[in-house]
Amino acid sequence: MLLIADHINYVYSQGTAYEKKALNDVSLTINKGEFIGIIGHTGSGKSTLIQHFNGLEKATDGTIYFNGQDIYDKDFDMKSLRSKVGLVFQYPEHQLFETTVLEDVKFGPKNLGLDKLEVDMRAFEAIRQVGLSEKCYDASPFELSGGQKRRVAIAGVLAMKPEILILDEPTAGLDPRGRDEILDQIATLHKEGLTVILVSHSMEDVAKYADRIIAMNAGRVAFDGTPKEVFRHFRELERMGLSAPQVTYVMQEMKELGLSVNTDVSTVDEAKAEILK
Ligand code: ADP
Repeated sequence: MLLIADHINYVYSQGTAYEKKALNDVSLTINKGEFIGIIGHTGSGKSTLIQHFNGLEKATDGTIYFNGQDIYDKDFDMKSLRSKVGLVFQYPEHQLFETTVLEDVKFGPKNLGLDKLEVDMRAFEAIRQVGLSEKCYDASPFELSGGQKRRVAIAGVLAMKPEILILDEPTAGLDPRGRDEILDQIATLHKEGLTVILVSHSMEDVAKYADRIIAMNAGRVAFDGTPKEVFRHFRELERMGLSAPQVTYVMQEMKELGLSVNTDVSTVDEAKAEILK
């Protein structure tokens, strides 16, 4: 078990007129090698939750264990947690600021105090991992396309060599091609052994890539299971302002029309296999 959230509660602006309970008794275990999709309506607590995973927010109540250590212990090395649990915010390209791609990607590992060779090696490797070519090294990040800029920002987090990579809506604002490229690249990183947490509004994307889905509702974990298990509750998901992937509804309609198909389907490939059967 890589990370455990143990009965986490979080209240913004506690004791003021703006007090807001954002997380309500959240308990979760994140295992090494998982690809987890987090879904939930706006305001359901997704961003607050992932900011607890790398210590950016501190629980009002409850605790987080990372590799068996309580991250709120006074001797716990919070700086090292921030590199081991890499968080890619929404529109991360807005945080690029160095004059070249290479310098930008080196920023994180340099800050860890690593020697120059290690910093360089990590930056080269991270740029390769996000599918950018060496030709980009000396380019200004601002000359790149939106999708490329976002890859540079993701490379900056990968260069810290995280054990968990958390991405908050990494495809927001990208065209369909840029979106698929980024998600396929993330899937490759996962296949190479990285634990991935993807916050997404797209039910299709989480169904396609994640092997486990956590659905948040009003600060609580509403569902936690495989895509099939979670999307089986599509009626309840709808009441939370969510839905199942389109293809789940298509299968449902086929069944209602009298065809004997299994409706436990959440990707187009699964639907194809089921219909052919
Ligand atoms: P999500 O990422 O699912 O959209 P958030 O974690 O951003 O949800 O928000 C959870 C709840 O906390 C919402 O009701 C939101 O309005 C509130 N909230 C988020 N950030 C703040 C903040 N800085 N101050 C006060 N309330 C906040």
